[in-house]
Amino acid sequence: MKPNRYHRQQILPGVGEEGQRRLGAGSALIVGCGALGCAASDLLCRAGVGRLTVIDRDVVEWTNLQRQTLFTESDAKEGLPKAEAARRRLAKVNSEIEIHALVSDFSSRNAERIIAEHAPDVIVDGTDNFETRFLINDVSVKHAIPFVYGGVVGTSGMALSVLPGETACLRCVFAEPPPPGSQPTCDTAGVLGPAVAIVAGYQCAEAMKILLGARDRVLRSLLSFDLWQGRRTRIEPVRDPACRCCVARQFDYLEARDQDPTVSLCGQGAVQVWPPVETSIDLTGLEQRLRGVGSFRLTEFLISGTLAEERGESDEPIGLTVFADGRAVVRGVRSASRARAIYARYVGT
Ligand SMILES: [Zn+2]
Repeated sequence: MKPNRYHRQQILPGVGEEGQRRLGAGSALIVGCGALGCAASDLLCRAGVGRLTVIDRDVVEWTNLQRQTLFTESDAKEGLPKAEAARRRLAKVNSEIEIHALVSDFSSRNAERIIAEHAPDVIVDGTDNFETRFLINDVSVKHAIPFVYGGVVGTSGMALSVLPGETACLRCVFAEPPPPGSQPTCDTAGVLGPAVAIVAGYQCAEAMKILLGARDRVLRSLLSFDLWQGRRTRIEPVRDPACRCCVARQFDYLEARDQDPTVSLCGQGAVQVWPPVETSIDLTGLEQRLRGVGSFRLTEFLISGTLAEERGESDEPIGLTVFADGRAVVRGVRSASRARAIYARYVGT
């Protein structure tokens, strides 16, 4: 008989045989597979959470390797989508659980479909931007799915659990996302790998309590720390009686379905463009159409290359990556209208 891989976890008073069974029957959605998403999905996979869904919009890059612990040099060389690279690694760590990789951007267009299809019991925030966090908060409150917020920038981090209807939601704490460009990001301020490990550890302990049904153990505090300065604070946020989200049930971020189809990608000098409607693209056919206009590489998940006749803002050839869900990343441009024009010309509308 195989030894019980969960033995050291199962002998913990808060887990036990029944707890382990609950973890195995549980489902977690990890939104974003950067530094936090990597650390969190690894911890939950090893803990035996029965179903993990990892969604991420990017491909693995060389500068990710310092802190994104699921990825290898060969993933970066191959330019593998992060969600798929994570799935491959996690499947080797634990073959006894179900792992789903979604190569996409968690947005108001697909959020509720993903929730319906994957039925998570808890959502773990691995994103790098407040727009998406507020969207997760909307989904969490609307569908009563607990969510664990986490963020790391520089040498500091923050985390908070949201139990809808019971504890403060993200909008009780931060009424609006900070205006774009007002906050340091990991592209401008860097990020310390160990700070990621602390936040992800906190998030996963909270997620495990939620999956174990130990809601009374869920911490009601907003943890924040600076690892370099040795500063640590815990505040106990209270529900805002006028909260637009968890009191008035106005799901502004979820309902923004007619929003601009473009998103400027922080620090990358790139713009992401969504197709007008949810779709899937025949990548092989598109690769054939693009042959005359530049050099492109086709993989199972995407087409990526440069357009010979289009010049970006610094006069370099414009890069174009198109994913199977019709989403594209146009590199070398900052203007949304230019990115939309490139999309219309080369991918179609
Ligand atoms: Zn609220």
